Amino acid sequence: MITTPDGLLMIDSGYTDRVETVIVPGLQKLGLDPAKVKYILLGHGHADHFGGAKYFQDHYGTKVGTTAADWDLMYPANPPANQNANANQARPKKDLVLAEGQPIKFGGLAVTPVAIPGHTPGSLAFIFPVKDKGKARIAGLFGGTILTLDRITTDGLKQYTQSIAHYLDTAKKMKVEVELQNHPIFDGTPERLAKLKAMKPGDPNPFIVGTDRYVKMWNIVSECVQAEIARRGAASN
Ligand SMILES: [Zn+2]
Repeated sequence: MITTPDGLLMIDSGYTDRVETVIVPGLQKLGLDPAKVKYILLGHGHADHFGGAKYFQDHYGTKVGTTAADWDLMYPANPPANQNANANQARPKKDLVLAEGQPIKFGGLAVTPVAIPGHTPGSLAFIFPVKDKGKARIAGLFGGTILTLDRITTDGLKQYTQSIAHYLDTAKKMKVEVELQNHPIFDGTPERLAKLKAMKPGDPNPFIVGTDRYVKMWNIVSECVQAEIARRGAASN
């Protein structure tokens, strides 16, 4: 959730059945009015990320955006009968088509999308400013990490390493120093949130890692994926 003087911008929206039980009460607990969510940007078009968006559209007129490719993923032209898991979820209507090179600007905020195909054809990373103790920082949210390499084809893994390299070009240029995820099991988000809660004044914010470590982390992820690609190559010889 990103706050601006003109309202709120949310990245991803969880499952449909968690909106009223988790997201809306969670916002209220933070003192944020769910009716002020003006935009929802989707890191990718899977149900656990878009499922809550329709509720916001219907109740608050929130505008929902993702890439053309992931709108297509959510609304396939020829859905295979009974195989389209997304059809069982409330799908948001297509408001905005996001694309790299077209920042989302609102309330003095600019969110930079970066195309990172791999987890889905239209996955996006988002780079945006945040504040920690009044100090401006640049955050990066890689919205399409692959959690189970073994389920992905070798070509898919190759595309993923290219996406990481492509993302790092922009992340380095923009000096991303805050590491965020929409797949919280990827980077220990729950543990870091617990740390954040227990933080004493003067303790470092566990999400601020600095640009060098941020880039290093993604290079290690890429090396692991490349090792898996090499292992498959060796196994097939
Ligand atoms: Zn997903």
